[in-house]
Amino acid sequence: MKTYRSMVLVSNDPQSMVQGAKEVFETLQAEVKKYNLEDEVSITMASDIGRMDISPVVVVYPEAVVYGPIKKEDVPYLVEEHLYKGRIAADLQAPKKALSGPIAWLTAREGSLPAEQRIVLERAGLIDPESIDDYIIHDGYQALGKVLSELKPEEVIAVIKESGLRGRGGAGFPTGMKWSFVAGTKGDKKYVVCNADESEPGTFKDRLILEGDPHSIIEAMIIASYAVGADEGYIYVRGEYELAQSRLKTAIQQAKEYGMLGENIFGSGHSFELHVHAGAGAYICGEETALLESIEGKRGEPRPRPPYPTTNGLWDKPTLINNVETLANIPAIIRHGASWFKSFGTPSSPGTKVYTILGNVNQTGLIEVAMGITLREVVSIYGKGMQDGATFKLAQTGGSSGSIIPASLQDTPMDYDSYAKAGVSLGSGALLICNEQTCVVDLAKVLLQFFRFESCGKCNPCRIGNIRALQTLERISQGLGTEQDVDTLQSISKNLYEMSNCGLGQTAGAPLRDILTHFRAEVDAHIKLKVCPAGVCEMSGQPILYQ
Ligand code: SF4
Repeated sequence: MKTYRSMVLVSNDPQSMVQGAKEVFETLQAEVKKYNLEDEVSITMASDIGRMDISPVVVVYPEAVVYGPIKKEDVPYLVEEHLYKGRIAADLQAPKKALSGPIAWLTAREGSLPAEQRIVLERAGLIDPESIDDYIIHDGYQALGKVLSELKPEEVIAVIKESGLRGRGGAGFPTGMKWSFVAGTKGDKKYVVCNADESEPGTFKDRLILEGDPHSIIEAMIIASYAVGADEGYIYVRGEYELAQSRLKTAIQQAKEYGMLGENIFGSGHSFELHVHAGAGAYICGEETALLESIEGKRGEPRPRPPYPTTNGLWDKPTLINNVETLANIPAIIRHGASWFKSFGTPSSPGTKVYTILGNVNQTGLIEVAMGITLREVVSIYGKGMQDGATFKLAQTGGSSGSIIPASLQDTPMDYDSYAKAGVSLGSGALLICNEQTCVVDLAKVLLQFFRFESCGKCNPCRIGNIRALQTLERISQGLGTEQDVDTLQSISKNLYEMSNCGLGQTAGAPLRDILTHFRAEVDAHIKLKVCPAGVCEMSGQPILYQ
């Protein structure tokens, strides 16, 4: 294993890339070469390093000095000062006031307290994701070693059950229970599948886990395969996630070379083969049975259920399907134990949750915090408040299919049960924060347009319902709505939920239902007064009172 005097990480989150992270990375390589330091300094693009308000960020280890925002013009000075002369390039250091977020967690040696509790993003931004050695140095594959040498498969499942981990894909189903269903199904062949087809608009947490710490998913899948008795697995990655795919393939190759994948892992008698399967851009393939169809080479359309994948999954064999974030928790739970995991979050939803924060806040980005935080805390602490001092109007959780959360639920703890009790859902983790200038009719139209486009067309409620709802909303926003339109929208929303074949159709009507529940007066203003209270729709400012 090669060791270096210094390690330099460059952030490559979306904002950093837009702001020139690639040029910074390439200039760093050129400058390091100029001083003949290639054998002493390693340079890596390292996914989410933390705060996007100072991106692109460059962190130099072992000193853990954070520089940012860095332009390519800054790089020659940074390399000369820090990497050649060994002095901190103070002029380029990130302002101290910016060190209260995730970067403070990375640089705890500076005396800042951690602002987040990171389990699944524990190593993202800290390690070179293309180095299995770096992963191992940071406790990687320890959990696998423990599982294969100390635990029986049923004991592994018992730990996961005891931890209370619930699926992070949106439904919150108990992970240990799902594992026990597959383990309890007899079969000569079983599969483990990782659903990495992250397609909810505004959600990019899984991508950053895959890009920042790909070995954690591989380790989790090997553990899962041992627990349920599977010998083959697939990671179904969204087609556009090219960097994630390439890093996963590199990580799989490295794991094979180190004997962690393949035949008779560590001489335990357990074997596991793992493949990366790239999606082709269809949102519906994030639905687990459509995803299985897609892996089998068929058109990505959901299957009727039951039977469920736990008994009749990939090629009709028992199959365990878990989402990326769910799997990323597994190695840490095995390493530290169920009680440790339950010390985070709430009793019914232990652990942490990764959220992407978007919309009308001062600071957008990605955070991992304990379950049970409130929306008000997310907006004020991590979002740094509403932009321009505006008022919070609503949030949408979990992308297009998520719930619409009104201001009255801002103080409800964000965990599966508290949200279910309030009649809303946590979803996949995207938090779209909207201010008073957001028109709910307009918002519903955008969401319905999305579902109309992404519906696979297999069943009528979804194929036709989404179009009818969209047409109705368009009429309302043009000032042509009638009082009967609200009944029509309510009926479509109900039919979508009750009669659609799969989760896409069942959740397509959820935002509509929430808007009609929490913002009925605003919809009524469009219909009865021909006024858009947010000033967005076409008839805004031109009330036609008795049309
Ligand atoms: Fe296809 Fe929509 Fe029916 Fe799902 S609900 S099977 S996406 S048409």
